[in-house]
Amino acid sequence: MAQGGGAKQVKLERESELRIEVGNDAPLKLRLLNGTAEIFGTELPPEIWLTFPPRLKFAVFTWYGATIEMDGSTETDYTADETPNISYVNVHAVLEERRNRAKASPPDDSNSSQPQGPRVIVVGPTDSGKSTLSKMLLSWAAKQGWKPTFVDLDIGQGAITIPGCIAATPIEMPIDPVEGIPLEIPLVYFYGHTTPSNNVDLYKVLVKELAQVIERQFSANAESRAAGMVINTMGWIEGQGYELLLHAIDTFNANVVLVLGQEKLCSMLRDVLKNKPGVDVVKLQRSGGVVSRNAKFRQKSRSHRIREYFYGLANDLSPHSNIANFSDLSVFRIGGGPQAPRSALPIGAEPAADPTRLVPVNINRDLLQTVLAVSFAKDPDQIISR
Ligand code: ATP
Repeated sequence: MAQGGGAKQVKLERESELRIEVGNDAPLKLRLLNGTAEIFGTELPPEIWLTFPPRLKFAVFTWYGATIEMDGSTETDYTADETPNISYVNVHAVLEERRNRAKASPPDDSNSSQPQGPRVIVVGPTDSGKSTLSKMLLSWAAKQGWKPTFVDLDIGQGAITIPGCIAATPIEMPIDPVEGIPLEIPLVYFYGHTTPSNNVDLYKVLVKELAQVIERQFSANAESRAAGMVINTMGWIEGQGYELLLHAIDTFNANVVLVLGQEKLCSMLRDVLKNKPGVDVVKLQRSGGVVSRNAKFRQKSRSHRIREYFYGLANDLSPHSNIANFSDLSVFRIGGGPQAPRSALPIGAEPAADPTRLVPVNINRDLLQTVLAVSFAKDPDQIISR
């Protein structure tokens, strides 16, 4: 129910949270009056008014009690005293122990047995709170001085950069609840679609590339290796989506699999991973505060993310256009269109199309309103997604 404007105070008891959906048209101002509180793992500064943009959905949680003041209109706001945050912070404590152990153990001569921090992968259906849990674990770790690597494999709603990409970045400070992930040194691979089913093999190639680069960074940097990584995944968990989860677990050598809100997925993963030594599969409860978003809402938030990429969160960037001749540009699509599924081929035959083959694209009206990536490749034979 929409709540009217005007300032109001909300007193939160210990271990409870204020869940808010900001109204569609105007931002909401909020501040911490007393006590301590956090938004998805990042502490609120005392007394300072913060401004949250329209449509943002978030929760202000307190471990020991707090009073919050807010000013502006909300779509919904209510207090909840049942949250899974204690189980989430317990996971954080276990990860913390592993980071300390990795930091304390002397490096081995052979690369493969260098001390490793936790490699956490968060999986679950759509709207189970995967991105939110990833943010919490990263922010709690950063608060304790670690610089864990955030890997976002969700090309649909990407939290690091524009949708259609997979990306990774070290998190050096608790994540700002309004501004999100800082974009200083992200490692980004452009996939170009919002669902992996357009070219599953290309998606896998990019995931593998990203994992290899992080692996190299980890082997050269004991500090990031000990801090480990948190990998956010897509909500596609059936059929091919499930295969892609297994592929990601394997490629990143994940050793902690956090399954949000789905018994079936958890038991399937436990079953296939039971022969992999050192991989823990942990089931966690979905928070009742996670807001379900329909296809239309997702489409809208993708458009907002794209706009934000070019214009900035507060319209503070000024992109400019460049004019070039069509003849000076070469546009390629990666992968030669949809492949025949294996099941449609004779037994033993492999699909012929190479998922990373470049297909020249005619520049015409079909390209209007599409986002392309600029390649650093010197010639088209090099893979051009990065
Ligand atoms: P996807 O299906 O896109 O992968 P997801 O599983 O990652 O989704 P989130 O993005 O974490 O889900 O959560 C969905 C929405 O619910 C987000 O807008 C998030 O800010 C909001 N949300 C999560 N937890 C809470 C909470 N406790 N109170 C209020 N809003 C919340």
